[in-house]
Amino acid sequence: MAVKVSSEWLNACSGCEISILNIGDVIVDLIPDKIELVHIPALVDSKYFGPLGDGDKLTLPEATVGLLSGGIRNEEHAEVAEEMRKKVNILIALGTCATDGGIPAQANMWKNEEVLAKVFGACPTHEPASPPTEIIPGYTDNVKAVDEVVNVDIFLPGCPPHPDWIADAILALLDGKTEWALEERSVCDTCPVIREKKSGAGAAIKRPLDNFEYNPDEPLDKMRCIMEQGWLCPGAVTRAGCAGKSGAPRCVQARQACRGCFGPIRKGARPLVDMMGALSSIGQDSKTLIDRRAMLNRFVGAHNNLRPLPGKK
Ligand code: SF4
Ligand code: SF4
Repeated sequence: MAVKVSSEWLNACSGCEISILNIGDVIVDLIPDKIELVHIPALVDSKYFGPLGDGDKLTLPEATVGLLSGGIRNEEHAEVAEEMRKKVNILIALGTCATDGGIPAQANMWKNEEVLAKVFGACPTHEPASPPTEIIPGYTDNVKAVDEVVNVDIFLPGCPPHPDWIADAILALLDGKTEWALEERSVCDTCPVIREKKSGAGAAIKRPLDNFEYNPDEPLDKMRCIMEQGWLCPGAVTRAGCAGKSGAPRCVQARQACRGCFGPIRKGARPLVDMMGALSSIGQDSKTLIDRRAMLNRFVGAHNNLRPLPGKK
């Protein structure tokens, strides 16, 4: 009998769902004999309140595996997460918004009323307006990772997660396993650039207004590490896996610094503290990094990593 899989998106951009589709032939070959997609609003219109939308209670179908992307920003997201938790045996937090808050959790540096006042009342690209108050779910206190609201069985980070890993996790579950995790190693561990464990770039961290040195015609193993050239590249505190099962980190392949989108190497790690140590170890002054709190928590603002500082706006 086919294993039932259910997918939902919360405070999400749909990049994780595009990664599910990008699995391609591997998943196509499993449908319908091995996998039955019982609920996937990214592909098929689904009603929360019964098939005709006339029910009075939010309901999701039962399934063996649930994929939940996006963090929790409002009461509807929390309700959907709780309903999915009740209806599935194994819940996967899919993508870094679900595992760590992602980019939306940068908002956790401010109180909700400050965010709303800024976005609706003081945004330079539109006329000032009042925040909407009707027909929208109430906001949660801050942007939460899924495991701050319901129990999560498997954490599958990435912005977006690589299709190789989504397929790997699903195939492991089809094989009867109940656990799956990415290896605990860093982006730097998978990066082929030249490292000398010191920076000849001076103590101040450079802003990315101009580019580091590289020759586009040469392979990556001929390029000097971006961090050692003096720019921020948080690969040392970011979990490896963005290139799937093989290959160099995706941003570095494109001659760009890592931004940290796979989140911390292990649960509970503090990228800000660890990265300040990594910068100091090669002779750079981490205090010269502009907007340090935001930059070193760029994808991990949930779990109280980011919160409003008293008196700071
Ligand atoms: S800091 Fe960046 S460029 Fe240097 S090894 Fe790590 S990921 Fe590669
Ligand atoms: S290099 Fe860093 S930011 Fe870029 S895709 Fe990989 S983990 Fe994400």
